[in-house]
Amino acid sequence: GHVHSKGFVAMDKNGVFTPYEFERKAIGDNDVLIEIMYSGICHSDIHQSRDEWGGSIFPMVPGHEIAGKITQVGKNVTKFKVGDYAGVGCMVNSCGICEHCKKGEEQYCDNNKTVYTYNSRDFDGDPTMGGYSNNIVVSEHFALKIPQGADMKRIAPLLCAGATTYSPLKFTHVGKGDKIAIAGFGGLGHIAVQYAVSFGAEVTVFDVSEDKRNDALRMGAVKFVNVTNPDELKGLDNSFRVIISTIPTNFNVEQYVRMLKVDGEMVLIGMPAANKIPSVNTGALAGRRKIYGTLIAGIPETQEMLNYSVTHNIYPEIEMIEANADAINQAYQSVLDGKVKFRYVINMETLK
Ligand code: NDP
Ligand code: ZN
Repeated sequence: GHVHSKGFVAMDKNGVFTPYEFERKAIGDNDVLIEIMYSGICHSDIHQSRDEWGGSIFPMVPGHEIAGKITQVGKNVTKFKVGDYAGVGCMVNSCGICEHCKKGEEQYCDNNKTVYTYNSRDFDGDPTMGGYSNNIVVSEHFALKIPQGADMKRIAPLLCAGATTYSPLKFTHVGKGDKIAIAGFGGLGHIAVQYAVSFGAEVTVFDVSEDKRNDALRMGAVKFVNVTNPDELKGLDNSFRVIISTIPTNFNVEQYVRMLKVDGEMVLIGMPAANKIPSVNTGALAGRRKIYGTLIAGIPETQEMLNYSVTHNIYPEIEMIEANADAINQAYQSVLDGKVKFRYVINMETLK
């Protein structure tokens, strides 16, 4: 039968969390049951629980940065056994037969059948529920192996923030000596900086919080630019081959595009609210400068990212909170106020 689950829910777009009990789908032959140990809080959870992108499905149990332990496996499962550590990121299903699914880019399913971990409908029409809960049922294909020796307390945020930043850095072939920039130095941004530095790039960080300057330099950035200080923005035109923006709100895109070299590219991975979408003067793009976006990473690349991160000891810097509704509600406010360094993780083992 169905799997009983306990967690935290937003009942409507006020995005206020309360305790919640619900049923998950039964464990199919290709599925695993994961007991969730840790669950990260992504800014996308805030956007969606407040319906900032439109179309949110309530009641909503967010969470797509999930780390835990396998407690049951279906009879066809070969990738995992009971007791293994496993993760779940942003996706739990896709068509599996189109060109992009076959390539392992399930997030770009040509049939638009990507099913997200929450705020989405699975093939049976039921809404999916995410990781702010004690367990999850997922097909083995969409569960990731957590490498031996991983730091379980810190690994969960890699499942979204790690994958989402690793992917465009690989796609743009960021490597030794490349001059690149990361705009928005939060949950995604601080992991992006660590990957880019480990790939050998010279990384400049743009953010609005002065108290993150030392953190950026400590993580290996060559320069921190406080964009609220106009003086710091001078002399940067034509500087970067790649700029990745994780900024979650409206911002001056043109200011960054002008900092791109000829043929440079700006990857917009931040996803602002529907009423805060930036615009750009196309004249600034002259010089064959490109702007495009990427969405998370496919399952094979997410596994590659996890293996790389554990091998190279790249983890988010986290603040652990207890699994209660007040703590989650407070954490959301702190993310919006720019107070978290750098990612909240809910300790699901403290769930009462
Ligand atoms: P965080 O809130 O943790 O980080 C955002 C950072 O951007 C903060 O450091 C913030 O500063 C900074 N910032 C805000 N405004 C500006 C500005 N004008 N200029 C420079 N920096 C600014 O969010 P996340 O990292 O969790 O997520 C970032 C965005 O990425 C969200 O929109 C999220 O939805 C999206 N996302 C997209 C994915 C994809 O697949 N494309 C996947 C996952 C997330 P401060 O905190 O000091 O205010
Ligand atoms: Zn996310």
